[in-house]
Amino acid sequence: MSVAINNACVKCGACVWECPSGAISPGDPRPVVTAESCTECYGFFGESQCVVVCPADAIDVHAEPVEELARRFDVLHSGRAPQNTWIWTRVGVP
Ligand code: SF4
Ligand code: SF4
Repeated sequence: MSVAINNACVKCGACVWECPSGAISPGDPRPVVTAESCTECYGFFGESQCVVVCPADAIDVHAEPVEELARRFDVLHSGRAPQNTWIWTRVGVP
């Protein structure tokens, strides 16, 4: 299910602005992640930007196989070549 926002969220809104896939929408009591739109930033950045910018450690990563993330990128962004895959790494997973 990619990433999810937990109740430590302080509603700063940073993750909404940072997501390159538009996967995070404002919500109450906290923003909402559309799982099928999240690639864990695969194809865009080296690591999940929402996890990196969150000041409250409020984003949990539910890891999915990288093959699924790559498939999702192709569906969501058809015609666009994935970038930075060589430096992609999963963050937020103990
Ligand atoms: S991991 Fe990346 S694609 Fe997924 S919700 Fe966070 S910023 Fe968006
Ligand atoms: S960046 Fe973290 S604290 Fe800010 S809205 Fe997103 S989940 Fe909440």
